[in-house]
Amino acid sequence: MKEVPDTAVLAARLLPWFRRHGRRHLPWQSDPTPYRVWISEVMLQQTQVETAIPYFQQFIERFPDVGSLAAASLDEVLHLWSGLGYYARARNLHRAANEIVLRRDRQIPETLVELMALPGVGRSTAGAVLALARGQRHAILDGNVKRVLARMFCIRDRPGNSETTARLWQLADQCTPTARVAEYTQAIMDLGATVCTRANPGCNHCPVSADCGALAANCVQELPARRIRGTRRLRQTQMVFVLRNGREVLLRKRAPQGIWGGLWVPPEFPRAAVARAWCGSTFGVATRQLQRLPVLRHSFTHFDLDIESWVLKLQHDNSRVEEPGSVWYTYDAPQSLGLPAPVSRLIEACFADDKNGSMRDARPRGGRPRPRALSG
Ligand code: SF4
Repeated sequence: MKEVPDTAVLAARLLPWFRRHGRRHLPWQSDPTPYRVWISEVMLQQTQVETAIPYFQQFIERFPDVGSLAAASLDEVLHLWSGLGYYARARNLHRAANEIVLRRDRQIPETLVELMALPGVGRSTAGAVLALARGQRHAILDGNVKRVLARMFCIRDRPGNSETTARLWQLADQCTPTARVAEYTQAIMDLGATVCTRANPGCNHCPVSADCGALAANCVQELPARRIRGTRRLRQTQMVFVLRNGREVLLRKRAPQGIWGGLWVPPEFPRAAVARAWCGSTFGVATRQLQRLPVLRHSFTHFDLDIESWVLKLQHDNSRVEEPGSVWYTYDAPQSLGLPAPVSRLIEACFADDKNGSMRDARPRGGRPRPRALSG
């Protein structure tokens, strides 16, 4: 066995394996148009296949082509993306669809350079679209492919630096065959997803084990080299869930950029005292009329966010919060708006508690608080 294999070996081994063991029933494979492949590739960035499948199906059902995606509001696009995370992907898809409609006569570009000029389309996504949907010879380098190549060719350098990335792209390109490119592209993605997995790779039934550099050098578990991660930061926020009519909650739209950009969240405050003061000045309620929910920790790529939640149940409508950029979100007949997953969970918790009668009604200070309803 050679310690470092020929690049031609990969396709020769993978294509027969793919015919027997490859994944052929993923929803985007049934009709691999450039549009469907593009949507699936964007969803699969940072997301497992099993998680992406129902999102893809819903998205394609609502937006079957680039025209319908461009014509939709960003709120609706984010609504269908809610829970998938990394919302810049959805915002970029929407922007790119509008560019394709306005400047490209609704035609998805057919060259790598033109595809990469669209918002949110990198070299690997563009390569995948052209390879899988058009059979053009382009390499891809997603997380699965990087892992396979790093192990096959014993790349010990840390990922992320430009030399390592350039080396991996060079290998990815050299390994890509001139024929049956679509099959090969799916095959190498499948190998990384189902056999050459990060933990417990299945080397004993791997089609390229006889040529794998990492297996020969007995360093499979060490590759790919781990990134050096900085210390995770912890951020905190205070959210106030204002409920009215037993079925509505006040939400505000976040600025279009950044974390949760364009999504809808409850009024947020940096400190508990500021949140309580806002409840007092806006609704005239005392702190004791607010209910506190357990702190919810949500993890982003580079930091954790602790969300402390206050629940305020209004007994009467209050028009002072009908400000631009805010909405009364109806829990049991929700509008098509994008909500971050932890906010959806907290809204669920608010209304679950509300149904159990365990939450206090908030009346203006000085009014007699209604007796707490007891469940059971
Ligand atoms: S032999 Fe093991 S480490 Fe090498 S490519 Fe196959 S699964 Fe990955």
